[in-house]
Amino acid sequence: MLRRLKSHLDTTMDKFLSTETKDENSKPSKFEYSRPEFLHLNDEKLKVSQDFANRPIVTPSDQLPFNAGYAECINGGKSNLNEDQSSFKQYFVDLEICELKEVSAESADIGKETEMQAIGKVPKFTLTYFGMFDGHAGPDAALMTSRLLHKHIMERLQSRIEVIKYKLWSNDSENKTENGSGNEVDKFGPLGNISVDSIIVGAVEESFVAMDEQIKREKSTFSIRGGCAVIVAIFAMGKLFVANAGDCRAVVYNKGKAVRLSRDMTPYSERQRILALGMAKPELLHEEFTCYEYLKRVTRSDIGKPILYRGPFMAGWGYKIADQDDLKVPLITSTGNKSRLMQTIGVARGFGDHDLRLYDSNIFMKPFLSAYPEVCVFDLKTADLQTNDVLVIGSDGLWDLMSIEEVYKSVNNVLQLYDTRNLKRYISAAQELVTIARGTLNGGNWKRKNGEPGSFDDISVFVIPLVHS
Ligand code: MG
Repeated sequence: MLRRLKSHLDTTMDKFLSTETKDENSKPSKFEYSRPEFLHLNDEKLKVSQDFANRPIVTPSDQLPFNAGYAECINGGKSNLNEDQSSFKQYFVDLEICELKEVSAESADIGKETEMQAIGKVPKFTLTYFGMFDGHAGPDAALMTSRLLHKHIMERLQSRIEVIKYKLWSNDSENKTENGSGNEVDKFGPLGNISVDSIIVGAVEESFVAMDEQIKREKSTFSIRGGCAVIVAIFAMGKLFVANAGDCRAVVYNKGKAVRLSRDMTPYSERQRILALGMAKPELLHEEFTCYEYLKRVTRSDIGKPILYRGPFMAGWGYKIADQDDLKVPLITSTGNKSRLMQTIGVARGFGDHDLRLYDSNIFMKPFLSAYPEVCVFDLKTADLQTNDVLVIGSDGLWDLMSIEEVYKSVNNVLQLYDTRNLKRYISAAQELVTIARGTLNGGNWKRKNGEPGSFDDISVFVIPLVHS
């Protein structure tokens, strides 16, 4: 097996997935391939959006919540379809009657934000959801997630709405005596000092896992190829909740300062979790992989000699005498964005990939890939927001090519060109980011202005203003 692994050192994801694809082709699709619903592409426009040669940049004609901007373009031939997906939804939350209701995209209310209103001391507010999903090895997992993840989240928030109402109510000191001695423990269980934020974060975390479970369950019926990185931003009650599982990225630009609300979850950045799992359950490694990292690949001629190694819980490097076990393939190879789990996959969290296994083997990667997100809460009320402050959410097609500073410069330059009341300013900012990351066609290659290669990946970007008036 070791020889076989070595011979597949450069094997691509597609090759690893070849066994999966054969089975999947015989099943129906759960959702027919399309671009994000809010783009409303008809068949003709859909075909145009798939033009690899020209890679047109597609923007929405509809108004998005907060007049947010969005733009996307297909990859340069990396896969047959655009495997990125995006979505948005808006809800009206009425705590008085404990109801969370979707605001339809056609409604006149879309795009506006209802501030928390203390009507009879029971708040009502708008909750706005944006999602971006970067698929790999097939479009299905990202497509399904873009259509369903918000339902999982809203279902769970609805089921906790009474607790949220109680918490908000009892936090108001005037109501403490009135509500503090009631039968809340019987109704909600002991709440301790758990905050409303924690209840929302918990609901989102559970929803991510439930969505991944649904993909796993429905794979027996539908063709759900590949997996996807997932990032979600929820604006509610003056706060911004960003949940991330993968390598899409969300950055807030507040008064010219960048605040990252997500970290890229590569096998290397998740090494402690992955290697610790391998150490605790060595049967998952099938005697082929090792949980150690080595400064350089160990060969037979190293056996019996001192080598530098690093174990799952080590930050520094230790010394050991190389033995036969050190000839196994490291579970994680390379570092940063180039790191790979089992030499195959470059993201360590996300949905799908339930059948992903090493070529011609029964070694599955899923136990090492996690669907749990990290959730970051940004307080918009205390941030002293300025007119041009934005949240930029992008797939790695953007961020692999542009630094956080470059993105800021570009967005700021575009926003300066437009009057603040112009509804197109955020769409133009998103469009410009995709244009820069993609580059222009030059002698058959996509090149950036600085002469460097443009992104070969699918590129998707939201530019969302933080001041909503
Ligand atoms: Mg990508």
